[in-house]
Order: sequence, then structure tokens, then C-alpha cells
Amino acid sequence: MSFVSLTEMSVPSNVVESPLARPLKELRGVGTEREAQLARLGLFTVGDLLLHRPRRYEDRRYFRNIAELQLDEASTTRGTIVALGLKRFKKGMRSVFEIILDDGTGRLHCRWWNLPFMQNYFAQGDEVFVFGKLNSLKPRTIDHPETEVIYGGEESSIHINRIAPIYPLTEGMPQRWIRSFIHRTLGEFEKEIVEPWPKLCEETQGVAASFRLRDYGLTSKERPEAQGYKELPSKANALHMVHFPEAIGDIELARRRLALDEFIELQREIQLRRKRFELKAQSRPCAGDNHFIKPFLAKLGFTLTEAQTKVLRELRKDMGGAHPMRRLLQGDVGSGKTVVSACCALMALESGYNVALMAPTEILAEQHLQNFRRWFEPLGIRVIMQTGSQKSVRADKTAGPMLPEVAESTSHQLTMAIGTHALIEDGFALNHLGLVIIDEQHKFGVTQREKLLRKGNYPHLLVMTATPIPRTLGLTLYGELDVSTIDELPTGRGRIKTFVRTADKLPKVWAFIREKLAEGRQAYVVYPRVEESGPTGLKAVTKEFENLKSLLAPYRIGLLHGRLKAAEKELVMTGFRKNQVNILLATPLIEVGVDVPNATIMVIENSEQFGLAQLHQLRGRIGRGAHDSFCILIAAVKNAEARQRLQVLEETNDGFRIAEADLKIRGPGELLGQQQSGLPNFKFGNLAEDLALIRLARDLAPESGL
Ligand code: ADP
Ligand code: MG
Repeated sequence: MSFVSLTEMSVPSNVVESPLARPLKELRGVGTEREAQLARLGLFTVGDLLLHRPRRYEDRRYFRNIAELQLDEASTTRGTIVALGLKRFKKGMRSVFEIILDDGTGRLHCRWWNLPFMQNYFAQGDEVFVFGKLNSLKPRTIDHPETEVIYGGEESSIHINRIAPIYPLTEGMPQRWIRSFIHRTLGEFEKEIVEPWPKLCEETQGVAASFRLRDYGLTSKERPEAQGYKELPSKANALHMVHFPEAIGDIELARRRLALDEFIELQREIQLRRKRFELKAQSRPCAGDNHFIKPFLAKLGFTLTEAQTKVLRELRKDMGGAHPMRRLLQGDVGSGKTVVSACCALMALESGYNVALMAPTEILAEQHLQNFRRWFEPLGIRVIMQTGSQKSVRADKTAGPMLPEVAESTSHQLTMAIGTHALIEDGFALNHLGLVIIDEQHKFGVTQREKLLRKGNYPHLLVMTATPIPRTLGLTLYGELDVSTIDELPTGRGRIKTFVRTADKLPKVWAFIREKLAEGRQAYVVYPRVEESGPTGLKAVTKEFENLKSLLAPYRIGLLHGRLKAAEKELVMTGFRKNQVNILLATPLIEVGVDVPNATIMVIENSEQFGLAQLHQLRGRIGRGAHDSFCILIAAVKNAEARQRLQVLEETNDGFRIAEADLKIRGPGELLGQQQSGLPNFKFGNLAEDLALIRLARDLAPESGL
């Protein structure tokens, strides 16, 4: 999916040649050097500049006296330079530049290490604003503070005695300059800032003083979130308030208004795309008639949970609907998504169509292959494999014909193709593709999903994820997908207890593991990524392997990491599944999908290096059988902050709560994985906080004049 850029957003869509589209280089005071600097900040037009968001504000109406400054507390102060100088040492290789300020209450030393050019910016007698944290009291010192020299004159009202915006800068651009530039440009172009969604506003006479949402029933009891958003500043006012607020409260009001614009723009895009899709995409009837599903469920060995059944009803409705299904299935780890996807596949197969299932790793694809063979082959359905290392069905006599025949196949042998990224390569084709299933879809990019879909003619799409998606992301990033949720785990599962321990407790941990191994259980020991940390990381895990072998002898340990060949990986996994290997030492490779119910212990070393959602995924490998499970997160002794973060996992097994915590702490990019492209880049919107605004935007988008 593609998102509108903010540059486009700043230009109202109903105006062709908006003055806000004017290039900054045409403005007074912008020569080639400034133009290049502005470009580095992504600022090309007046519209861009007006949306350049301050990174913080400084209330320059009130100051701390120098005498009142506290250790380790960021604050703003001001003073006059009474002394300054540059010292060089280590044969001129190193330097420290220092200014000493006095404000009548005390003296403050500001130092810059190895930045000798700083001396060009200050002179004795200058008055200076300083923002930073004291790092010592005697004498009062701040290293590398942010500073701004105070000039008097007509411009001074822009910079002092007010709440001053502090902008992101680039090399060579002074804070004062951009502040003045924005101030001037705002004044010049104020009249050109029009309401982008006039249909949403109540008519007011003359220039809109406020953006009053018409009453679209948004304040009704069902939508309490609309409260407090009904009256927001006009666009012009919001831009004023975000740059030059008169009160601290203005800043958040303005942010909300500008964020709402971003969200409405995005929702319009999503809803338009959906409309276009529904106009051109004809659906294939794939609801099936139960002739496979009935015997499948009868032999399954357990009954579906209520949540699974509810989701299946939603899927069946989509599969028989007028437009191809576009659905996201989310369910916490272990909630039983695979069986649901199998039923969905059977609906398509019953209807005479083939199905493709893509998984992010070979291990997972292999696991699916085993399950689907066991389930589907008795029904006469061929199950084939397509991975990087396995381009055809293995020499398995029950498996039916080889893949090359599939590509050219005109016969109607019903086929379920399972694979990794190899499925989207040009060499792979599957006739009569009725349904595409993508497992652990957050590991794939949007383009990969689209590529697989293009192997058919508007097939149905089911994407699955065990990373619970906070609702804000569901409505934005996945806005064009319908969402089903399995919100219940199968019964009869043992509990998972989670403990955060420091590395010095490891001997106790190993003793505990020996106890559990003696009872017949199995364990995972997870070590952070080898793949990405180069040969030294690999060494670490191999060394750890030797170490564990002696620590846990005579139990058998298998080693699993991304550098192994597929066949080697499969050998280790098979051993582990059969409990011939008791302990699996692995990289986060096993994060997704692996299902070995007898494994009830998981130790994660250096756990502070992982995100919470990822740890939750890892932990999802245990707690799959009837025995109680134990997850032990080993954290660095020193890192108290990390240990605190990890406590979220001690406290809850609820994937949604964990994902929301992770979204707040690390942002959407980290939560969803690096693969995720098409993440909207909001300047004012905040995906961790703005659920109410996002919902409002979704409801308003159709009213905004699509
Ligand atoms: P995930 O949702 O994480 O992909 P899986 O589909 O791998 O979970 O299911 C986890 C385990 O739960 C599997 O062993 C599966 O057979 C089992 N399972 C699924 N549904 C049920 C159910 N309704 N009752 C009991 N066990 C189930
Ligand atoms: Mg799964």
C-alpha cells in the first residue's frame, strides 16, 4: 500500500496551484546554501515549512536562576558571558571550549569537547540561553548544552519572552534563523491556508476562527472518543499555535488538529482504494459445502474453540461474498490459527480451487507441510512444498506428482502449495488459485503479499499474525483489511510463569532446567541474533553451545541458527520434535510458529536486547502442552531500566497489552518488524496514543467529500 506524502497533504486537494506549493527557494533570504540545508530537512515548499514540527518548546517567559539549577534535570537558564576560552591538549588532537555565564545568582560553565569551532559563535558580554542538564555542581557545569545567543532589536519578540519553538536543525542552520524564517513565512502565507475539508466544518462567517466539526452523531454515547475533539482550531490557527503557542495547552490542541488532518488523509486513501478494489475485483465463490471440512474436523482430535468457530463463520461469509476476501486473522500465540487457516483452505478446495500458504521461514513451512499432509492427503488433496532449498515435493511416495507438473498442470488435482518466499518467485505458478494464506504476515512486506496475490486472478486473501495489533495500527497500517480475532486459547493448557533474572543467577537456572529435563520435559535456550552480528556473534553462540553441553550433560543439545543449511536445520528440528534432542539452543529463528508441546522451558539470554512483542512471541513456543511452563528472561545485571521493561512480561500473558506497551516504548516500526514497508510517517499523529483521533478520522473520511 502506498501512503500520501506529507508534501501532498499540505496542499489542499481542491486547489490546483496552491501558493503553499511555492518552492522555498523563491522566498526572500533563501540562497543556494539555505536551500540545500532546507532540503536536507525535507523542506521544499512553503507547505512543508509550515508543517516543520518543533521538536520541543522552551518557555522563555520563566527561567531558572543559575543558582537554582539541579543535577540531572533539564532546564532553561540565561546569563551573560564573563569568560570564555579554548584549551587544546594531546598535541592539539583534543580540545575543550568553555564559556562561563553569570546571571547575578551564580556562575555556570558550559563546555564542548572536541568542537573547537564553537568558539566562533560566542563573544564576551553575549547574553545566552542555555538548555541542558547540570553534570556537576562544583563548579556548576553543563557539557554540550543547547544554546542560543540573545540579540535585542525588532526580532527579539520572536525568540524571547515567549514560548519558543526549538526546531530540528541541520549542519550550518542556526535555530534563530529557522525560527525567524518560519515566523515570517507564516505571516506572509496565513491567508492562503485554507481548510482542507470544508465539508466537515460548520460554516462560520469570514475566516474560520475555529474548526467546528458538524455534528455527525459523533458525540453520541457510542462514540465518547469524539468528545474533546469536536472543537479544534482551524488549520491556520493550528499552524500558528504549533509554532508560536500563547499557552502551553495550545501545543496539544494544535497537534491534535494537524494529526486529525493526517489521519483523515490516510483514511480517505484507504477507503478510496477499497472502493476501487471492490469495483474491479470479481469474487470467486469459495464458501465450500463442508464435504472436506466435516471429515477433517471429525478426525482432528479436538473440538474447535468458540473463538475459532466464530472466526470461521466470518471467513465463510467472506469466501462466499461478492468481493474477494481481504482479511487479517490475529490471535495470540498458540490460539490455534493454523487449524482455522486449514478450514479456510478446505472451503476453497471444496469449491474446486487451489490454495497457497506462505510462511516466513523454512522451519515453519516444513511444520505446516507435515500438518497439512497429515490432514489433507487422506482427503485426496495434494500437498506440495516450495522453498529455497526444496523446489518440489520431496521423494515422498504418498505425496503425488512433482512440482514441475504443477506449473503446467491443466488437470484439476486439487493442490495445496506450502512454501516460503520461493512461492513468489517467477518459477512458481499454480492454476485456479482461489485463496492465498500468509502466516506471520508481519514478517513480509506489502509488496511480497501483492506479488503472491498476482499469481492468481483476485484470489481471496487471509493473512495471519500472532503479534497482536494495537487498534491504532489495525485502523491505519492495516486499514484496508477486515480483522478477525481469536480471543481465546484452547483449554487444557498448562500455565506459563515468567521470571526476570539477572545473569548472576544462571547457575540456579541451569539446575532448575536439569530438574525439568529429568521429568521428561524439553527446553529452549535462546541467544540473540547470530545472523546480523557477524562472525563474532556466531562464535558466541557456538561457544555457548560447547558451554551448555558440559553444563547440562548428559542431556542432548541441538544448535539452530540462520547460517545452517535447510537440511541441517530440519535434522535438528526433527530430533527436537521426537525428544531425541532435549534442549534446543537457538537464535530468534524459532520465534515464529514452531510448535513442540513437550517443550516447557524457555531461557532467553540478553533478553533486554529484544522488544517485548518479540519476547512474547518467543515465549509462545512454550505453554503448548498440558504441563506448566516456565520462561526465564535473563537480563544484564546493570540495566535496571531494561529489567523494569521486562516486568511487563512477568505481569501479563496478554499479547494485546504487551503489544501496546511495546508500541509506546519502541514505536510501530520496531513492533512490526523491519520488513514492514508502507508505514505511514506521521509528523503530528502518534500511533501509540491517538486511537480516538484515528477512529474519528475513519468516520469523517466519507463525509469529507470523497
Ligand atoms: P498459532 O495460533 O500460534 O499459530 P497453532 O495453530 O500452532 O497456534 O496452534 C497451537 C497448538 O494448539 C497446536 O498444537 C494445535 O494443534 C493446537 N490447537 C489448535 N486449536 C485447538 C483446540 N481447539 N483445542 C485444542 N488444541 C488446539
Ligand atoms: Mg502459527
